Amino acid sequence: MNTFESSLNANERQDLIDLRRDLHRHPELAFEETRTARVVAERLQAIGLEPRTGVGVTGVSTVIGNRCDGPTVMLRADMDALAVSEVPGRPYGSRYEGLMHACGHDAHTATLLTACSLLQREADTLPGRVLAVFQPAEEGRGGANAMIGDGLLDDITPDAAFGLHYWSGFESGLVAVTPGPVMGAVDEFHLTIKGRGGHGAIPHTAVDAVVAGAAVVGALQTIVSRRSDPLGAVVCTVGEFHAGTGFNIIAGEARLSGTLRCYDQQIWEVLPGQVEEVVAGVCSAHGCEFDLDYTRVDIPLVNDHDMTMMVRSTACDLIGADNVIDFRTLGGEDMAEFLKRVPGCYFFIGAGNEEKGITAPHHNPGFDLDEDALPLGVEMLVRTAKRFLTQGQAATCPPIGTKDKA
Ligand SMILES: [Zn+2]
Ligand SMILES: [Zn+2]
Repeated sequence: MNTFESSLNANERQDLIDLRRDLHRHPELAFEETRTARVVAERLQAIGLEPRTGVGVTGVSTVIGNRCDGPTVMLRADMDALAVSEVPGRPYGSRYEGLMHACGHDAHTATLLTACSLLQREADTLPGRVLAVFQPAEEGRGGANAMIGDGLLDDITPDAAFGLHYWSGFESGLVAVTPGPVMGAVDEFHLTIKGRGGHGAIPHTAVDAVVAGAAVVGALQTIVSRRSDPLGAVVCTVGEFHAGTGFNIIAGEARLSGTLRCYDQQIWEVLPGQVEEVVAGVCSAHGCEFDLDYTRVDIPLVNDHDMTMMVRSTACDLIGADNVIDFRTLGGEDMAEFLKRVPGCYFFIGAGNEEKGITAPHHNPGFDLDEDALPLGVEMLVRTAKRFLTQGQAATCPPIGTKDKA
């Protein structure tokens, strides 16, 4: 872990970790983050802020600073947990069976709350305002749109928006910031293939939904390998395949579900039609009927170039250009909804640590993050916000290398 000049003293660092651990012990699913929202609101009130609660069911927002004639910068964290059972034995482990902060949103909330307290100390001298947003339901449930629909941005229009995700996939102490599309569009499909059940020894009198389903799984991959521009990353994953009741019974029905992801708008537009064509063609060839339910979950997350350079400069100043890396993932991220409306940048803070055994991927029961990374997250949010408000955008960083790792 590289060192940097943190605004937090030892007590404040401990408070940040304690806060993260308290939230980690009490994970809540999408739109059920009532305790989390209460903790957030109480913390904001305790430092003299006026939180607005119930924005998009359980979301919380607040404004720091009173210079209405200056720019407004939005900082955003997410609060929801996942239906994952955490590995046992951690002193700060989840107290709720089957629920876990397996994506680090506990750390995001603790980080933004701590950033709010640092910014609030300087509120009188800020040349503009900070809109802090604690959104519910990031994990594919549309919490950002729920908050926007509830008027989050009606009275106060941010000029820029920033947010971060801690990432266990690379080492603590690194910051990843990349312009353009950095997180994927996420589509979801559910498919039921209807054949006709029968005896395992007499296939010609039945219509086998397992064989048809297996053919669909293989054929869907040709959307990636044969129908999409290989320079534009696409992934197709079939995550579920349920069929059959016995070894000697031909299954009359198969149920599959999966996801398609990409960055590119043109590719994204044609994916639903291509899935429909493949499913219809394969099912027809096997004599099966089908029901296909295809939905859009997340739009691609696109970072604004100038805002990205601002975050990158902040990171370079803090930890040096050698520790600032490039990273993209086809994971989805609801922050995309804010960045569609407001120019901004979503970036990543490394939170893996091999020495400490922190290597499990996100959404895994063994997921954890290196808490030593948290002060860097706080510092990045505070400095980026202040940098934007003062428009001190010095391009002190070397140019970004090759982004496309597809
Ligand atoms: Zn997640
Ligand atoms: Zn996440």
